[in-house]
Amino acid sequence: MLTISPQAGTVIVVDVDTAESQIALADLTRRVIARETVNVRIDAGPQVVLDAVTQRLHGLLEKHRRAPGRVREVVVGLPGPVDFEQGCAVQPTGMPGWDGFPVADYLRERFHAPIVVDNDVNLMALGEAAQARLETPLLCIKIASGIGAGLITTSDDVYRGADGAAGDIGHIRAVSGSNVLCACGNVGCVGALASHRAVLRGLGIAESTAEDPLHGARELARRIAAGDPTALHAVRQAATEIGEVVAMLVHMFNPRTVVLAGPLSELRDDLVSAVRAAVYQRALPLATRKLTITATQLKGGSGLHGGIALATQDAFSPAGIARLLHEGR
Ligand SMILES: [Zn+2]
Repeated sequence: MLTISPQAGTVIVVDVDTAESQIALADLTRRVIARETVNVRIDAGPQVVLDAVTQRLHGLLEKHRRAPGRVREVVVGLPGPVDFEQGCAVQPTGMPGWDGFPVADYLRERFHAPIVVDNDVNLMALGEAAQARLETPLLCIKIASGIGAGLITTSDDVYRGADGAAGDIGHIRAVSGSNVLCACGNVGCVGALASHRAVLRGLGIAESTAEDPLHGARELARRIAAGDPTALHAVRQAATEIGEVVAMLVHMFNPRTVVLAGPLSELRDDLVSAVRAAVYQRALPLATRKLTITATQLKGGSGLHGGIALATQDAFSPAGIARLLHEGR
């Protein structure tokens, strides 16, 4: 029997998010070797974030005795629209300095390996399908500072669309017809109305404080756990708005699984059940007969696991194998 040697190479995943970034090393069998959080805010700009992440990764490679020359692939997830071919973000909101910054080129010089830059929700969706083994087609909805979606096809591939913009659902107009102004300049976008950030703003909770970058998420979780009716109502209201959009997507893509991820999805079952209610009320029976709507199975780790899956998929693709043979290392 042939097996893959755990020493055959290392893949690196960087999951960049608003308040902090997560990093992981794995071997080619998808076993996680190390996983850490890097406390650097995305609005510090790409160089600051990528330098902090690179330094920690080099430290981890050394600590776990993984040869830097055997890094086979680096996958980076960014919380905004990504040009997959160029390896950069395109006009992302709340990410000053990132628009068009050549993330892939910048990291290639530091790791001398193939670099893949993707939208973070695509990686999360892949993580839920590959690691949590949820059934495909799978639609993953991330509800955080904005709202985004990732779609995994029945052949376990990410559906990115013609330009990589597939799944950028945060700017779909919400059905309630609200006139809330969105960062994109339009009014009534579902992301401006029902994201985690929008719920916090509505409740007057600061998203982060000097001491705690995740203050908002913790405070909202505390209020929900304490049964604060205003907070419960705000979350259900947001879930109903999201549910209307999900119902539309269910008709469009007929997924077998819908996964809700991000800080709101980890608050009891309120969010999931309210989204379910909206979808079942709206969608036709054939589309919902075997549909599962669930919260994330990987609690904040789906992006990392998806990145590892993407990296190994790529390393063992015909082009990846050719690269390995050519390099002979
Ligand atoms: Zn918008």
